[in-house]
Amino acid sequence: MCGIVAYIGNKQAQPIVIKGLKRLEYRGYDSTGISIYNGSALHTLKTKGKVSDLEALIAQHPEQKATLALGHTRWATHGVPNDTNAHPQTSNSGNLVVVHNGIIENYASLKKELIHRGFTFSSDTDTEVLVNLIEDVQQQQGVKLGQAVQIALSQVIGAYAIVVFDRRKPNELVAARLGSPLAIGIGENEFFVASDATPFIEYTKEAIYLEEEHLAIIRVGKSIKIRKIKDDSLAEPYVEKLQMSLENIQKGGYDHFMLKEIFEQPKAIQDTLRGRLLSDEGVITLSSLREHDNRFLNAKRILIVACGTSWHAGLVAEYLLEDFTRIPVEVEYASEFRYRNPIIYPDDVVIAISQSGETADTIAAINIAKEKGAFIYGICNVVGSTISRITDTGCYTHAGPEIGVASTKAFTTQITVISLIGLYLGKANGTLSRSQYQEYLTELSTLPTKVEQILASQTFIEEVATSFKTAQNCIYLGRGYNFPVALEGALKLKEISYIHAEGYPAAEMKHGPIALIDKEMPVVVIATKKGYYDKVVSNIQEIKSREGRIIAIVSEGDTQVKALADYCLEIPDASEPFIPILSTIPLQLLSYYIAVQRGCNVDQPRNLAKSVTVE
Ligand code: GLU
Repeated sequence: MCGIVAYIGNKQAQPIVIKGLKRLEYRGYDSTGISIYNGSALHTLKTKGKVSDLEALIAQHPEQKATLALGHTRWATHGVPNDTNAHPQTSNSGNLVVVHNGIIENYASLKKELIHRGFTFSSDTDTEVLVNLIEDVQQQQGVKLGQAVQIALSQVIGAYAIVVFDRRKPNELVAARLGSPLAIGIGENEFFVASDATPFIEYTKEAIYLEEEHLAIIRVGKSIKIRKIKDDSLAEPYVEKLQMSLENIQKGGYDHFMLKEIFEQPKAIQDTLRGRLLSDEGVITLSSLREHDNRFLNAKRILIVACGTSWHAGLVAEYLLEDFTRIPVEVEYASEFRYRNPIIYPDDVVIAISQSGETADTIAAINIAKEKGAFIYGICNVVGSTISRITDTGCYTHAGPEIGVASTKAFTTQITVISLIGLYLGKANGTLSRSQYQEYLTELSTLPTKVEQILASQTFIEEVATSFKTAQNCIYLGRGYNFPVALEGALKLKEISYIHAEGYPAAEMKHGPIALIDKEMPVVVIATKKGYYDKVVSNIQEIKSREGRIIAIVSEGDTQVKALADYCLEIPDASEPFIPILSTIPLQLLSYYIAVQRGCNVDQPRNLAKSVTVE
């Protein structure tokens, strides 16, 4: 995820683009850059850091008068955040510049082919491959810019929103999208292209939200032409009148970043799987595992260190990795691990999980394990973060920036990465049968659609929340794979609504928490069809006999639990190891709506910080 802003028209472009980039920093802010065309030369300035760092860099250069500029604020996916990897990326000839949001999945094979044809590369990005691919099409086929972009994009697998400029065509910008958003603002003899409408909202209210697989050829003095990337046919532009406020547009029209991020999960999971899960071919490509699979396959034990929500993802990993690989797994709170003189063997594999990659306790735990010679694998979201640098290898979740303090998409994408690791290793060491492996692979690719299906029950979950918003306490119960989900559900509720909530393995209830149950006590039970269903139903009976109020997460078509529970939230069926990705979604929404109805500050809950970089 990143922010794109481009301007072509009659005003000074640089300040418009810089101001626009600042508004898009919620989309990413690890590096940034701008290209401006002043009528004769193309100048590009790029830097690691935020847009304010770019401003400082611009201030050191003679002022440029230009009516065309392309800017980018990056959230790196390929290549660490540094000056070279920042966008715009320039083609070998220096004629083309591109800003890109997304991932080109087949960039490695395209790059190989381009190197073979004499192209050279200075960055590690997939974007530099794309800009040179467009140039290659221009050189080979002598077509116009718009058509070169269209031909190049039809060879690309992945997701993109791009803006392309060719200095030999100074009155033209070409924009295109597939999977990442792009809006075009239409002013008087001027055009804006941006990841959302915030950069141009004060200049124009007329906008075209570019449709999937559409390409726009934007020429000053002329109208916009929209073409379909698939077959190059013309499409009718649909111009909208914008009515939203600045803040609303940044949140994508959602009331809070947390809600936006909950709804981003189908795409985030898709992005985690992108280029890694090739289910038709029965292949998982994770170079971090391929290069080091002997460390995993010879490990006597896997240790997982994490904090908070990531620790819950670690617990899911314990069930899943043991199931798929039969390698023993232990999960540790990083903060405890670091101070308890842990036993670590050189043939241990330590997996560290952290959204930000900056969690202080997890970093300390990694350093201890490193000293003892263990092999360290990192799972984090932020490219170039400390954990990504100090681990031996690892895998990014590619979930895009998470702004809401309560983690949502980070959790589901961490489990998605774990699923890929489990499947890869289970196949490699023969603990998963060929057919089981293929079945799971196919199923993994269906999860984004299933998550979407659950999100569609938003209104019902909002209604359920109304009945529980005044609760003082709440218990969450689950067994097996759903036990960590119960812990995560309880954490979400306490974090943002300040209701005291506890997660328990359902069978543990009778060893204590059952004493708390009366008709005031809401109990959330995850009672999906697979995995100890009958046992959980008995636990529900026990709650019912003590007059507890029950909200159950059930599989589609359930009748037994429906007859007992006060409210049932349905999720599509899935194999047990993938249930947590689904069963956690209604719990996120439930916490969200309860918190909103209690008037809490959902995105910035009291006393909490997004990444915990202190002890
Ligand atoms: N894949 C591109 C990169 O890593 C763009 C990432 C983004 O969307 O910010 O540079």
